Amino acid sequence: MSGISLSLNLSGLRKEDGDEAMERDLIIIGGGPAGFTAGLYAGRAQLRPLVMVGQAFGGQAATTSEMENYPGFPDGIGGMALAEQMANHAVRFGAEIAYEEVTSVDLKTYPFVVKTYSGTYHAKAIIICTGTRPRYLGVPGESKFVGRGVSLCATCDGYFYQDKTVVVVGGGDSALDEGLYLTRSAKQVIIVHRRDQLRAGPILQQRAMANSKIRFVWNTVVDEILGDNTVTGVRVHNVVTHEESIINADGVFVYIGLTPNTHLFKGQLDLTPDGYIITDKRQRTSVPGVYAAGDVQDPYFRQVVVAAGAGAAAAIEAERWLAEKEYEAQEAAMEREVAVEHEEQEVS
Ligand code: NAP
Repeated sequence: MSGISLSLNLSGLRKEDGDEAMERDLIIIGGGPAGFTAGLYAGRAQLRPLVMVGQAFGGQAATTSEMENYPGFPDGIGGMALAEQMANHAVRFGAEIAYEEVTSVDLKTYPFVVKTYSGTYHAKAIIICTGTRPRYLGVPGESKFVGRGVSLCATCDGYFYQDKTVVVVGGGDSALDEGLYLTRSAKQVIIVHRRDQLRAGPILQQRAMANSKIRFVWNTVVDEILGDNTVTGVRVHNVVTHEESIINADGVFVYIGLTPNTHLFKGQLDLTPDGYIITDKRQRTSVPGVYAAGDVQDPYFRQVVVAAGAGAAAAIEAERWLAEKEYEAQEAAMEREVAVEHEEQEVS
């Protein structure tokens, strides 16, 4: 992280069960745009939210080099810079941020149980903002070269390909956006797409087509990543002609879509067949008191601004639900008190 000072109030320093720090009104799992916006709203609502960011500060958005469609930034803003601003904003209003990875959740007991490597937390409400992770191709050679020529992040690794040739796999917004980013360092970017039409939006298509460093290879899928110590190319075949060939390249960037991070919630929350959390219009999941926001429940828009909005909505809902629960508990306590008084009067 750089540029913006992130004055994190790191929580979780005390790790004993029963510690106040481990008993929470609200835990937000995930530190991307949805999680930080939920943290901001919940902080302002005095819920003392704990945002658990795991190892992926900023989520997928933070791996985007330049974001041109987040309102209020007409000149664009880097994904990581935006994530840092959002985190700072949430912290300023009382959110705590913990670099803790959640290892399990129990949504069948109440208060809900959230376990991390360093302790067990209890939460009266939870907002899940765990986002998505990029998918790998799953072809021979890929796992061998991850981090040594195969990458899922042009912003992180593009610098290593000065004047080199790279292959980008995919035809969506990510492939074109990141392919364009790679032209800053690479001498050639070869985009290999399995169809002859791109899924990416028109602006990115125009820019990529107009960039002399970008070449498209259509109707083609990657069968193997080739190399010895480092990547030397990819073996591909054309899905129309079935012709096999080799494309020489120094690196391969894979952008073939996303998988939701929902393994912790399987069997506890209703999920779509693709694994996304099912929410209603008020970000409620199938378990009362558990909300979800951002890409983890949105296979349609997957935009930072939409995720941030959903995070705000989830926090507003959680605050109302907690207030209602508190009110019901007070009413029940008062009714019990009146009943006891009544009994005492009858005895005397
Ligand atoms: P995506 O839109 O799902 O596109 C994935 C691409 O990979 C598609 O072109 C798909 O081909 C191809 N693909 C899928 N499986 C493949 C396989 N096994 N082998 C080869 N190719 C495969 O994913 P994304 O580009 O990561 O975008 C994710 C979301 O983020 C989208 O909603 C996107 O709009 C958003 N996003 C927006 C921006 C922006 O606004 N600037 C930037 C980045 C991402 P087919 O087309 O044939 O299905």
